[in-house]
Amino acid sequence: MPAPPPSMFRTKFRFATELEPDLLYTPHDLFNDYSFMKSTTAFDYDVIIIGGGPAGLSAALVLGRSRRRVLVCDGGKPRNAASHGLHNFITREGILPTELLRLARAELAEYDVEIRREEVVDVEIWKKGFRVCTADDGWLTSRKLLLATGVRDAIPEIERIGEMYGISVHHCPYCDGWEHRDGPIAVYGRGKHGLGMALSMKTWSNDVILCTDGPAKLGKKERERLARHGIAIREEKVARLEGENGLLERIVFTEGEPLARSALFFNTGQEQSCTIPSKLKCRLTGKGSIWVDGSECTSIPGLYVAGDASRDAQFVIVAAAEGTRAAVAINTVMQAEERK
Ligand SMILES: Cc1cc2nc3c(=O)[nH]c(=O)nc-3n(C[C@H](O)[C@H](O)[C@H](O)COP(=O)(O)OP(=O)(O)OC[C@H]3O[C@@H](n4cnc5c(N)ncnc54)[C@H](O)[C@@H]3O)c2cc1C
Repeated sequence: MPAPPPSMFRTKFRFATELEPDLLYTPHDLFNDYSFMKSTTAFDYDVIIIGGGPAGLSAALVLGRSRRRVLVCDGGKPRNAASHGLHNFITREGILPTELLRLARAELAEYDVEIRREEVVDVEIWKKGFRVCTADDGWLTSRKLLLATGVRDAIPEIERIGEMYGISVHHCPYCDGWEHRDGPIAVYGRGKHGLGMALSMKTWSNDVILCTDGPAKLGKKERERLARHGIAIREEKVARLEGENGLLERIVFTEGEPLARSALFFNTGQEQSCTIPSKLKCRLTGKGSIWVDGSECTSIPGLYVAGDASRDAQFVIVAAAEGTRAAVAINTVMQAEERK
């Protein structure tokens, strides 16, 4: 058997140079001729995807089916880990987020997609491609790079919020408002964030009270607007939440009467879940998400972003769709590079 081309020294055999050439062929390689995809530089992978949530796994599916060699590195901290049931994903209503990811990973087994449970700690632009440093395996290279790293929510620092988050404490009315419809709801937030969330929650319940945990930072007109819609404001400092089995029963303040509530929705912001976008100096939008063009490409050629890390409609189905769009764009660019 002739020595395999450099493009074979990838994916399943990262330490390929230490092995006999014959051993470098996998059944997959024998039935697939990748020579038409060769570029002048031998990269370990066609595409490395950082982040194995809905965005990253969806992109991996499209790229795997496009016969690309793909590595997904996932730190294993999905944003919605606290959720007890995912909503707004047609055909998957109420599924556990971990189960959705399990199904997605299982579907990828058929393709040349490798998934590693490890953090990417550094990234560099390298030879018209990228170099990615993983926590355990060191540097790996790829022609294109997709960031699907998501965001991290700023969860208010309130005593006992952790045990209720995902059950009766939430941040997204679209994801969890229905389950608390017509109930006594508290909104936690200040200024325009608290105002917007409180007004929005009126779609799900008529009984909404805004808790600002200190000065509301609202002007006269904004207070009047809330009053017009029957939303009272509690500006006392919040001491703790009380309830059993994750179910909120009341909010206790440092002074004044406790407030009986069965759900709390907060709006206290978020940030990129890792520093890679800032390390690569990606252009950001005014809202702090990574700027992308219509095909999910960032301000850096070859670097794509999908999911919550980009744009602002943050849903699983949207993240998956953005992953698909990024994958098609990546494959299209690689096709053009291969067939000049
Ligand atoms: C409590 C809660 C409930 C929600 N409920 C719903 C719902 O019902 N319906 C809905 O549509 N949406 C819901 N969402 C929103 C939903 O979780 C997100 O829109 C979705 O997860 C975005 O997918 P993503 O792939 O962009 O990011 P994520 O799912 O956050 O995945 C990003 C992945 O990247 C990994 N990662 C980050 N940095 C690195 C790194 N340096 N190296 C390696 N890996 C890295 C993380 O570990 C993570 O696994 C909810 C969110 C929360 C917080």
